[in-house]
Amino acid sequence: MITVAGSLNMDLVVYTDQIPRPGETVLGKNFKQMPGGKGANQASAAAKLGADVRMIGCVGADSFGTQLKESLRNDGVDVKYVMTDQTAATGVAVIQVEKTGDNSITVAPGANYSIKEEDICRMKGVIADSDVILLQLEIPMETVKAAVLAAKSEGKLVILNPAPAAALDEEILSHTDILTPNETELEVLSGHSTDSLENIEEAGKILLKKGVRNLVVTLGARGALHMNQDGVAHYDAYRVTPVDTTAAGDSFNAALAVSLGQGKPMKEAIGFAIKVGAMTVTKEGAQPSLPLLEEVNRFDQWIRDQKIPQGGDPV
Ligand code: ADP
Repeated sequence: MITVAGSLNMDLVVYTDQIPRPGETVLGKNFKQMPGGKGANQASAAAKLGADVRMIGCVGADSFGTQLKESLRNDGVDVKYVMTDQTAATGVAVIQVEKTGDNSITVAPGANYSIKEEDICRMKGVIADSDVILLQLEIPMETVKAAVLAAKSEGKLVILNPAPAAALDEEILSHTDILTPNETELEVLSGHSTDSLENIEEAGKILLKKGVRNLVVTLGARGALHMNQDGVAHYDAYRVTPVDTTAAGDSFNAALAVSLGQGKPMKEAIGFAIKVGAMTVTKEGAQPSLPLLEEVNRFDQWIRDQKIPQGGDPV
């Protein structure tokens, strides 16, 4: 059982040739409303990958909230522990995606900020009968901390995806089994530049010194880096044509949680997560782009169908 404690947002997405700079107005292309939020994306991704998944979160008493819960339920996520705040609006994310696949996102958290430490204390039993607790930073930091500490006191595997970027206190860092920042988040967490692979490793070492046991840095099209006290391992990404990188990190984290939850070693778990991340960036949207387990099982054929030479392949 994987328990995800995190955000649910309605994503309001505009596709455009170019994301406007401050003060600029551009004419976009189509608009779509899609379920999102890092917590819900990761819960949905893990369920689609075949895991038993439960979500702890909060929505408003509005139509977005109802739609978000319904969508999670359809993907197979247990939403019994998604609360409703009668006074706050359901979280929304305003997302712009440009034709290169790059995106820019503003999140209005709304009801996501109504999940409090007390709620985590009340749900200790839920945490106690989970294998993995998967967290992000779109709910209050005190709530994240309460969940990390509750999970560790029960001896559970804690995966923390520190997104969006924020500094973390040493108690959270030292109680997290696997911390999964991207380069930007790693820079914020370590206070060290991450503009080269060398600097990324230096930044990683700072976090290991602060008590992080395993650091998995996601590097977009450059793959991922795993660092712990035993050393550093680099994993190449697959070469694909990205359409929309939204939720790449979310699907990667979910895949990691699913695989580690099944007792697989880290190397295998990261290999699986890299495949899932590659499949996610070739489709539009957050939750709609998340692959099903049976699709990932056919990955070898899928990657051949992309007709892009991979590292090691004859060009
Ligand atoms: P985030 O969305 O959190 O910034 P990343 O962009 O690093 O996360 O993506 C997470 C993972 O998804 C990467 O480690 C990689 O395995 C995969 N991925 C992301 N972008 C690409 C890409 N353009 N091509 C292939 N794989 C990708």
